Amino acid sequence: MTEYNILGQPLEDERPLEKQETAASPRTRPPSRLAESGQRLRPLTVFLLLLAILIPTSLSVVLGTSLERTKSELDQLRQSMDAPPPQSGEVLPPKADSPEEDPGPQPERPAYQDLYPELYAQPHEWNAAEDRKTAYLTFDDGPSARTPEVLEILEQYGAKGTFFVMGGETEQAKQRMRDIVAAGHTIGVHSYTHDYNKVYASVEAFLDDFAQEYHLILEATGVAPQIFRFPGGSVNAYNGATYKEIISEMTRRGFVYYDWNRQTGEAVKKTPSASVLVKNSLSNLDGTQRIILLAHDSKRYTNMVQALPEIIEGYQAAGFSLEALSPEVRPIIFDYPG
Ligand SMILES: [Zn+2]
Repeated sequence: MTEYNILGQPLEDERPLEKQETAASPRTRPPSRLAESGQRLRPLTVFLLLLAILIPTSLSVVLGTSLERTKSELDQLRQSMDAPPPQSGEVLPPKADSPEEDPGPQPERPAYQDLYPELYAQPHEWNAAEDRKTAYLTFDDGPSARTPEVLEILEQYGAKGTFFVMGGETEQAKQRMRDIVAAGHTIGVHSYTHDYNKVYASVEAFLDDFAQEYHLILEATGVAPQIFRFPGGSVNAYNGATYKEIISEMTRRGFVYYDWNRQTGEAVKKTPSASVLVKNSLSNLDGTQRIILLAHDSKRYTNMVQALPEIIEGYQAAGFSLEALSPEVRPIIFDYPG
């Protein structure tokens, strides 16, 4: 196994044995002296050799087991995204007043599972394997002054998109959220604060931020969001210590999150020209069946709006239909660091 190679274990194990054979070899010593020294040295040598073999071996077994366990936990998390959603009985919060289901204190159940008991997604099925090329345009960080322009372009091309919104306390922002929904696009949670340090400090902190945006969207549009996008993506430089637990809790609550496999690329310090955004978005389309494109609906990214018609035309010319995400769409998610 690779863990053994990393630890250099097989080498450590074999060397002492070779030495032992050489020392005991009749070719290197006269028989009488061999017998004499062998009698005095052999028990001690064997004992030391056993220690030299057993200690590193057991250490590597423990390390290997622990690595395997971590890996299998991560695999389970990933599989849970591909597997059908759990039965509604598992997703919904347990009934507080069902005596037969009370097994006494359960210390392993984290307290945050009881936070925001209303914060559960509806049960859903996964789409059967998609047999046609689909591109999902997703717009993060809105609503903004650009939202009406994006909506107009999508309308013009008969395309549907997905808006992962943030903040939005003003009446104008709420109206833009309603416009998104009214035009048949999907609205999902991005973040209320979009403050990475705050959002990823703990599962509780994540739930606080998520719940605030969830309720804002629900009150503004009447739609309870079922999908979300992590600020910075599901695995980023800020959530190494918490992402596993946050993903696990959000998945337990039935919410589906989406990363991306293409991005327009405007959200950098020196935002590129529209033609670069088009090129980024349309890169490597051959052999790709499903695209989730990350773009940003933000006041200063007029270049994204300029690029959008050409991006849509490029996808349509390559045979992609432009659809909105829904919880039934199997997510594209990043690989966890291994
Ligand atoms: Zn964002």
